[in-house]
Amino acid sequence: MPEPLRGGPGSGSAAATEDPRRLLCRIGALLYQRGFVIATDGNLSVRLDGARILASPTGLSKGMLEPDDLVVVDLEGRVLEGRHAPSSELPMHLLIYRSRPDVGGVCHAHPPVATGFAAAGVPLDKALLAETVLELQQVPLARYATPGTRELAETLAPLITRHNAILMANHGVVTCGPDLQTAYFRMEQVEHLARVTLVTELLGRQALLRPADIQRLLALRQGETTEAATENESPAGIRQRVEALLRQALRLLQQDR
Ligand SMILES: [Zn+2]
Repeated sequence: MPEPLRGGPGSGSAAATEDPRRLLCRIGALLYQRGFVIATDGNLSVRLDGARILASPTGLSKGMLEPDDLVVVDLEGRVLEGRHAPSSELPMHLLIYRSRPDVGGVCHAHPPVATGFAAAGVPLDKALLAETVLELQQVPLARYATPGTRELAETLAPLITRHNAILMANHGVVTCGPDLQTAYFRMEQVEHLARVTLVTELLGRQALLRPADIQRLLALRQGETTEAATENESPAGIRQRVEALLRQALRLLQQDR
């Protein structure tokens, strides 16, 4: 049984108490070391409170950020603190924070295999791996829009309310979560799913999970979630999570028909 991804506030992990600036720099270094971004690609952000977002700057390598390189903006993108301009993809991050009150961190990168699927116009929507079915459900593909434009943020709008990971056509991947570390783990999971999907395609066959297997996993996770939720989540958060699980089960059943 896969363990839920939890690495942020309330989880009791080191990331829960880590300074958000240090956390963002540490995750940037991981993205760069894993080859999920090259040069100055990618961008990261953390919700500091109800009105402020900490974001990576434009034009600097995410592998070599220092805490004072980071920028604080409001939810309209106005710079409140920082000596650099914020990421050109800031509108995408802000759209996610505005439409998802549950999101505390956003990660955008170009991991090469998942980006290959995005460039081929192929979503990662098959029930191949128990862990990713549970954590990500399906990873849909948002249509192409020019990077750094508001249009790009708008292509994500219909998908972001229902998904924590999205392929961006001819571009890359965006993930989100209750904290930045969880968003980063989801980026790793998308790339892992893309690699495994590619191998199954090279082998010429895919043995998808059966609906009964998925229902059993969902039932087990739902039990865990309810237990964890009663400790850490609001009633609205619990309801949102259960509704997402039901939607996921329906989609997977329909997909199998
Ligand atoms: Zn990008």
